[in-house]
Amino acid sequence: MKSQRAYPLAFSFEFFPPKTDKGAGNLLAVSKKLAAKNPCFFSVTFGAGGSTQERTLETVIAVKQHTGIDVAPHLSCIGSTRERIRDILNTYIDHGIHHLVALRGDMPSGMHTAGEFRYANELVEFIRAETGQHFFIEVAAYPEFHPQAKSAQADLINFKRKVDAGADGALTQYFYNVDAYTAFVDGCEKMGIELPIVPGIMPITNYSSLARFSDACGAEIPRWIRRRLEGFGDDVESIKAFGLEVTTELCRKLLECGAPGLHFYSMNQSEASLTIWDNLGLKSDKSSRSIRQARND
Ligand code: FAD
Repeated sequence: MKSQRAYPLAFSFEFFPPKTDKGAGNLLAVSKKLAAKNPCFFSVTFGAGGSTQERTLETVIAVKQHTGIDVAPHLSCIGSTRERIRDILNTYIDHGIHHLVALRGDMPSGMHTAGEFRYANELVEFIRAETGQHFFIEVAAYPEFHPQAKSAQADLINFKRKVDAGADGALTQYFYNVDAYTAFVDGCEKMGIELPIVPGIMPITNYSSLARFSDACGAEIPRWIRRRLEGFGDDVESIKAFGLEVTTELCRKLLECGAPGLHFYSMNQSEASLTIWDNLGLKSDKSSRSIRQARND
């Protein structure tokens, strides 16, 4: 974990594009509250399908205008073409965007065309070939390994492909085992991978949806946490209080062992992330922002 201490601390919050006007209004209010903490950046997810993808750009522009904080769109390549990705990149450049989260994505059920990209490393390579050093490119990392990976070692090798293709930083899938993260970063160090690997943090606020989602994306909820959460039944307040305690402790341990920041999966809510932020007395570091803006033209 030595290498990670070399990077300035970067705190960021992830949003998804709201589907309704009410959701859009709520997100602007949430982003304003989070912006008061002066995070390094916000990011906005990118779904499959045309209208969802347009909402990513709309959300990025709205949040950036409303808060003055940099916003990085996610961009996934599965089912897409080079021409389509080129158009999106040019639109982002026209809007002054210089920070991206580049992903493969998942094929939505019912959609069958794989498109012209197979894996995220091909997308990163394409972005670099098309736009040079314009973008600071983040990629996804999986401390508990991607559910489709042939083996842990194969997944590490595939992660390295994205780094070698030109990624500048990584944001991880969420997890609740600190050891999974430190072992992953140690594995990366041994392979000569050098970039900040920022842990993704999913605050626990609702047990059933978290359990469903975790099964699908391969994130493990440790047995002791599951059992405690199950024990609360429908007692939402106790779930929230215990969830905040667990997540605050996770963040504290990660920062103590050298994690170069935290990326909060906010779920378009501010309360849980802000409570953790205040519990830990976090302070944003300006230099984490400047390394992500260095490519700004
Ligand atoms: P890849 O890095 O391509 O890896 C996918 C799988 O293929 C892995 O098992 C890997 O081991 C294997 N692999 C990779 N490269 C190769 C290769 N060259 N040869 C053989 N095997 C290979 N999804 C969305 O749809 N929209 C989002 O906005 C979004 N945001 C995310 C943000 C973060 C921080 C994270 C962690 C995930 C996000 N996802 C999002 C989910 C992500 O799209 C899925 O996890 C997807 O299944 C994998 O994407 P990837 O970019 O990690 O893929």
